[in-house]
Amino acid sequence: MKDSTKKGWTEIHTSVLLAFVLASVSSGCGPGSSASGAVGRGATDGPLAADGRSGADASPSQAQIRRHAGGFPIRAVCTIGMVADLAVNVGGSRVAVEGIMGEGVDPHLYKASPGDLQRLGSADIIFYNGLHLEGKMADILVRLARTRPTFAVTEDLPPELLREPPEFQGQYDPHVWFDVSLWARCLDRVVHVLAEFDPPHAGEYRERGSAYRKRLEALHGEVKKQLAEIPPGGRVLVTAHDAFGYFGRAYEVEVRGIQGMSTDAEAGVRELSRLADFIAERKLKAVFVETSVPERFVRALVEGCQARGHRVVIGGQLYSDAMGKPGTPEGTYEGMVRRNVDTIVRALQ
Ligand SMILES: [Zn+2]
Repeated sequence: MKDSTKKGWTEIHTSVLLAFVLASVSSGCGPGSSASGAVGRGATDGPLAADGRSGADASPSQAQIRRHAGGFPIRAVCTIGMVADLAVNVGGSRVAVEGIMGEGVDPHLYKASPGDLQRLGSADIIFYNGLHLEGKMADILVRLARTRPTFAVTEDLPPELLREPPEFQGQYDPHVWFDVSLWARCLDRVVHVLAEFDPPHAGEYRERGSAYRKRLEALHGEVKKQLAEIPPGGRVLVTAHDAFGYFGRAYEVEVRGIQGMSTDAEAGVRELSRLADFIAERKLKAVFVETSVPERFVRALVEGCQARGHRVVIGGQLYSDAMGKPGTPEGTYEGMVRRNVDTIVRALQ
């Protein structure tokens, strides 16, 4: 009985899966989404390492930080919202920050528009995440770095703190912002760069940086405390793509991503089926969808669990690779993290 139910479910979803899996060949977090090797690997990647230096043993790129010679505010153009958030918090009124990728945008797939190129080309300074997150913009960032101060906020992260899971096929996991303590190190990088770029106001950048750092440290503790409310056996996060690896490591949450496990349709069905078995066995209460990833795969998983006699609900939408609407709490980094944790705790408690 159970087998035939399973089979029926498998047949129904093979076409859905095929479409999804084919789409995921060119999307998501895996190296398939990265631009070809113009920008090097992992923590050492980014235009600043384009001269062949290994970031692991190179000192911070102080020598390459040109001084700001223009007026104020400094025009900083950033790729993802989380990076723009760092620049806003450090720069204060000295820096006018523009973000390129808004709400719901998948940075792995994002290609710069002519308008973006114009904004980047006229920026005083450029910040991006790095670690191949902005895969389709890698060549552009390398080119820009020749004429504009261009910095990856992840550049100074020690390699031993970076995850290198098999699904990223030899590259580092770029989603470092979900370990708040790791993101605080990226904040330090932005403080350092701005202080070198605009020395007369270095004190201001350091002051704002340390105030924001204190908030991030408090947030890190808050997240730990809140997640501890979920019973250990149920502290499992099943989501549509593999963005939450650092989150899981930092806050002791087991993470299972659906996407990026296989590019082969039949294997995809098998993996999905195995994941449904896992959810039913562990009696997990909820799985999650993400704002920057289509939710049809998660729906297929929920139906798979139902076919196994286990009711699992979609626990809500998580912000993964993009923040919420500007002007809302989720439009800031801190608000985005808080909203995610609230959503997770409410669904799994
Ligand atoms: Zn991602």
